[in-house]
Amino acid sequence: MLIGIDLGTTNSAVALWQNNEDGGEAVLVPNALGAALTPSAVSVLPDGNTLVGAAALERVGLKDGATATSFKRLMGTDRKQKLGKKEFSAEELSALVLMSLRDDVTAHTGTRPTEAVITVPAYFNDRQRKATRRAGELAGLTVRRLINEPTAAALAFGLQDKEEREPFLVFDLGGGTFDVSIVEMFEGIVEVRASAGDNRLGGDDFNSAIATAVRGRLDPDGLLGKIDERRAEALLLQAAERTKRGLSDGQDAEFALTVEGARLSTTVTASEFEAQAEGLIRRLRDPVVRALRDSQIDAASLSEVVLVGGATRMPLVRKAITRLFGRFPNSSVHPDHAVALGAAIQGGLIARDSGLEEIRITDVCPFTLGIETAEHSARGTVQQGLFSPIIERNTPVPVSRSGVFSTMGDGQKQIEVKIYQGEAREVSGNVHLGQLKVPVPPRPAGEVAIDVRFSYDSSGLLEVDVEVPLTGAKHNLVIIDEEDRKAASDLESRRKALAALKHHPREEATNQMLLARAERCYEEFLGDVRAVVGDRTRMFVTALDSQDPRRIADAAADLSGLLDMLEANPPL
Ligand code: AMP
Repeated sequence: MLIGIDLGTTNSAVALWQNNEDGGEAVLVPNALGAALTPSAVSVLPDGNTLVGAAALERVGLKDGATATSFKRLMGTDRKQKLGKKEFSAEELSALVLMSLRDDVTAHTGTRPTEAVITVPAYFNDRQRKATRRAGELAGLTVRRLINEPTAAALAFGLQDKEEREPFLVFDLGGGTFDVSIVEMFEGIVEVRASAGDNRLGGDDFNSAIATAVRGRLDPDGLLGKIDERRAEALLLQAAERTKRGLSDGQDAEFALTVEGARLSTTVTASEFEAQAEGLIRRLRDPVVRALRDSQIDAASLSEVVLVGGATRMPLVRKAITRLFGRFPNSSVHPDHAVALGAAIQGGLIARDSGLEEIRITDVCPFTLGIETAEHSARGTVQQGLFSPIIERNTPVPVSRSGVFSTMGDGQKQIEVKIYQGEAREVSGNVHLGQLKVPVPPRPAGEVAIDVRFSYDSSGLLEVDVEVPLTGAKHNLVIIDEEDRKAASDLESRRKALAALKHHPREEATNQMLLARAERCYEEFLGDVRAVVGDRTRMFVTALDSQDPRRIADAAADLSGLLDMLEANPPL
């Protein structure tokens, strides 16, 4: 079975293509808690069990929380996060989220999925894409295709009524990344004309902006300075998330948190938030302008501006979009569901499911890819470190292009082909993807040429072929950097290690969620309130041990009733 997965910074979701009498449709698969969205959070409990999703998210602010969130921002890096006794890379944490989604599908359909389409931000570079593909493989899924998030959203939007459409723009602001794509639909072809983005801009940054703005006045006595810095940061960001959501519904919102029994709170107004987020709002403009320019479409001829990604719910973002385009954006697709649904549609296309037969999709590569070269200047000096593009950004994929380069020095014995991705004139401003040493016969400078061919597949993965016409030697490089090669070689042992981790059984998900909430409340409060939370938690744990369903249900109702009351009216 082939599933479609939106592996998001904040939330992830999984969907399936289902054939029916009207052709078919993409449907979301609920998780063990019955929700379509699973928070991209992983926690390791003191007993070594791993938790994924809402229960893990509840543990973020705990003293020994051992919880990771927003790890998508570290994809493609070798940074590790320590949870309990173990260290995890971002791709391993992502694999745990994927495994949980895979299990949700198994529980829902009775069939274990083996293949997936996974979405990535259009602006994800080659390393980040490869890390995502490895995460899928670590979760035991064959990744049939990586698809750009705005392209997936465009599929979900475009296939709502299957009508032909003038070019439309997908504005996708998620938890950690921002992508813009310009898409056209005609005669069953969904064509992405251009993509641009910023993979360091998302809803999380708005949380940081709020937290920074209020910290001083919130905590004049410096209580947060007395607890572990990471925990203080987590509590501030969690509170900021609540405030940000509050500001999507009203003119002001409370910013509140409880630390060591003390309640800290202040009010944030919409205009204060707007002033604080001004710099972030300004950064939304550049990718829009670039995508319009690259697609040679002017803003006035766009038929719609389609909003995707949870962060487009912020009124200040909608206001900025309305100002930028001189019209109101279109909110007809569900901002949190569209990407997973689009991934399932792409899955249906790959499996050639009926109902999708007449649809074709073409995407573009959002970056320029090229190699480092040097040049003789007019004064006879050599300028090193220049970037020579081979595939220019926004070329339709799959694509294969080549360039010819020659030796710079007399008797040169090898050419080092250094591969970069980006738009800067000098390679120092671009992302280094890897390198390849190509031996060449020693000849006078400029007499040996090499042919460098880049092939970029539909998943946005790069393959490099170098040929030396003089000798006929050929060099091929599918996986370009050392890190990647290392990672690929131990994939199997890492997959086994992840599969061997103890996971909480699905049927216990609701109880785990309640326990995590109770632990958080216990840590937040002091004195009598804390004692009551502790008592009810103990009763709940005893009931769980008894394995008597009636006793468990009663104790769960008691505990959640208490927590609801405390959260609605926190004692001062
Ligand atoms: P996504 O990656 O698409 O799941 O988007 C998640 C982002 O949307 C996070 O930064 C959330 O804080 C943000 N978000 C979700 N709901 C709201 C809301 N009601 N108001 C403001 N931001 C929201």
